[in-house]
Amino acid sequence: MRVDVVIIGGGAVGSAAAYFLRSHRRACSVAVIERDSAYKLASTPRASGGVRRLFSLPENIALSNFSIPFFERFDSDMAVGGEAAAINFRKGGYLFIVPPASVHDLERNFKVQKANGVNVDWLDRDGLKVIDILAHHPSTAKFISLGLARHFVAENPPQALVDRMAQTFTKTDGDLRAVMETMFRSPEFLSEAAWESRVKSPLEMAASTIRALGGEMTDAFATVQKVSEMGQMLYAKLEPTGYPDVAETWLGATAVIARMNFGAAVASGQVPGVSIDASRWQGMDSSAIAKALLGHEPSPQTLEALATGLEGRNPSPAVVASLVLGSPDFERR
Ligand SMILES: Cc1cc2nc3c(=O)[nH]c(=O)nc-3n(C[C@H](O)[C@H](O)[C@H](O)COP(=O)(O)OP(=O)(O)OC[C@H]3O[C@@H](n4cnc5c(N)ncnc54)[C@H](O)[C@@H]3O)c2cc1C
Repeated sequence: MRVDVVIIGGGAVGSAAAYFLRSHRRACSVAVIERDSAYKLASTPRASGGVRRLFSLPENIALSNFSIPFFERFDSDMAVGGEAAAINFRKGGYLFIVPPASVHDLERNFKVQKANGVNVDWLDRDGLKVIDILAHHPSTAKFISLGLARHFVAENPPQALVDRMAQTFTKTDGDLRAVMETMFRSPEFLSEAAWESRVKSPLEMAASTIRALGGEMTDAFATVQKVSEMGQMLYAKLEPTGYPDVAETWLGATAVIARMNFGAAVASGQVPGVSIDASRWQGMDSSAIAKALLGHEPSPQTLEALATGLEGRNPSPAVVASLVLGSPDFERR
């Protein structure tokens, strides 16, 4: 085989060089030689994937200005056989707050960025007062208290608790440690109703599954993909509100199956980058395995479901573990 250009290494730089050589000089033939088809050792799949434009040099800004429309078209331009090359390109923003000594540098960079087409705004002290007014608005105290009580106590937390937390917020000028203390010491937090009242998010589900199984993680890539399949693509929520902290967000039919599959896959050692030691279950019956995974006695419903699911079979500990990890007992925190 004879080609005009050979590129060694098919990471972002090698692939981009090949792509632009081919798109600008169509007559030129290019071969990319990559030794690692899984890109396990390459930098490219490890990158955070951010395209920053807030540079101090026009050359850097020009490079980013060029790459943004390229990434916007990436899904369709790089489609293979009609299948989009989805990279979930999202646009976000930065807020820099600097001490007086750094204002000069920031202002100089701001002017360079503005002159080079970056959508950037300058807020002075008066502009920042808007944030101060918002921070002291009574609605902010209620909103933050509701969010915390929802996360730690109940999806619809008692109003009296939220009100007490909001009072602490206002009294302490937003001291979150004090707000949390009000919540942790409340009868509502310590009540039976708050015990395992919340459904785990996909990230919590993945972390608690691996922890319950005593897993060792050497590479998070496959787990992060599984968390996406469960419905929570990390760092990719478009709206600044983040994912809603309510159970129905995570309990669509596909997501529930993905949750159960994840437990089964980790328990049987099939998630790349995560290893578990199944020997710890040697000699344990199914209710002992359930207790070890849940950290407490399984509920009668879970025990009954286990007995029905395993009836007449002689299952391996991994099968028992997958059933427990897919049970409603494990779904909740
Ligand atoms: C954690 C992390 C976060 C990052 N975040 C960002 C970010 O947000 N924004 C940003 O712009 N950059 C970021 N970067 C930097 C960016 O990822 C790298 O600069 C870029 O991916 C480098 O691409 P590359 O093609 O030069 O190298 P690589 O991606 O490492 O590719 C080199 C390839 O060459 C292959 N190779 C090497 N030797 C041979 C050989 N002899 N024969 C055949 N193949 C060979 C390797 O297998 C590899 O696949 C980040 C990097 C890391 C590690």
